[in-house]
Amino acid sequence: MSTWFISDLHLAPEETRITAGFLGFMLEPQAGDTLYILGDFFNYWIGDDVKTPYIEQIQQVLKATKDRGVNLYFMHGNRDFLIGKDFCDASGMTLLNDPTIIHLGSEPVVLMHGDSLCTRDEAYMEFRKMARNPQWQQQFLAQPIEDRIAYAQKARSESQSSNSMKEDSIMDVTPSAVDIELSKHQSTRMIHGHTHRPAVHNWQHEGQNRERIVLGDWYTKGWYLKVDNEQYDLVEFDLPKA
Ligand code: MN
Repeated sequence: MSTWFISDLHLAPEETRITAGFLGFMLEPQAGDTLYILGDFFNYWIGDDVKTPYIEQIQQVLKATKDRGVNLYFMHGNRDFLIGKDFCDASGMTLLNDPTIIHLGSEPVVLMHGDSLCTRDEAYMEFRKMARNPQWQQQFLAQPIEDRIAYAQKARSESQSSNSMKEDSIMDVTPSAVDIELSKHQSTRMIHGHTHRPAVHNWQHEGQNRERIVLGDWYTKGWYLKVDNEQYDLVEFDLPKA
């Protein structure tokens, strides 16, 4: 039984290579395997009530994967945090909290999207606090679809222009925030996405070996982490030609 992790695909109808890469990747996990999708699966999400042929297609692929015996778990990212129970149910995915602790072999492993670890980005942390408030979400989801689309487009272009002015270190996780999270859960290993800086980081904290595995985005290549018998492989692969 293998455990698979992906994040930051940023699926969108116009992203034909990423979509094709995802469809191909979904044939890899076998019955009995488990797949964790750790957020920013979709480029944006404005409510489960917005149904498009593209969303239906992705939903069907997820459901078919679940139906052939693959366990599916989904955690929100900062772009698709409005994915709700309806979409998860229809896709055969179980929604996870951020963070979630799982056991791989004997070891507790902390799973996160990663945005909550970027504490030096104060403007984003403010937005996150607001947007994760159930009342704000209810209000947002009650708006007409056109208004929600307009809001999402504005938010994305604003975040692109402000991110391009932020210092590099602000856009990465805060090391002390990682250590606090690991200590809180008595864990030595974390898996997250979000920063688009795929890597395996090893360090020592109070005499303890710790590891942080960062998943990659799928903008130019596909990335997954595969765990077999406590062996961790972070893999980069070519996306199909468009
Ligand atoms: Mn993200």
